Amino acid sequence: MGEPTIFKKIIDREIPATIVYEDDLCLAFEDINPRAPTHLIVIPKKEIASVDDICEEDEALIGHLFVAMRKIAADLGLGDGYRVVTNNGPNAGQEVMHIHFHLLGGRKMTWPPG
Ligand code: 5GP
Repeated sequence: MGEPTIFKKIIDREIPATIVYEDDLCLAFEDINPRAPTHLIVIPKKEIASVDDICEEDEALIGHLFVAMRKIAADLGLGDGYRVVTNNGPNAGQEVMHIHFHLLGGRKMTWPPG
């Protein structure tokens, strides 16, 4: 095993984060560099590096994350709309190799993303 990722350290409470949701399988916390009034990072506790590393056995887990995001968005009052983004690999700008979903809301989003 290499050096734990920043997100693994947040799961293990080795570095601080503002956690807004947690259950047995996942964690949601505020992005340190928010790009919208609401910008959360939603991660599985299981260490999956990227979308490319999702296995068949992870199907229920990934579905669980989306159900969690839907609940979090409702709790935060994002009924006007929100965006879920996943960057996969260097060309997409993935910086942290622990799969994560950006949950962005609280402003009008533009399309297409850059
Ligand atoms: P990526 O570019 O990999 O899709 O997104 C990584 C995200 O993690 C970025 O939006 C970045 O601001 C956020 N991030 C990086 N380091 C930390 C940290 O230590 N704490 C928190 N809360 N967010 C972080």
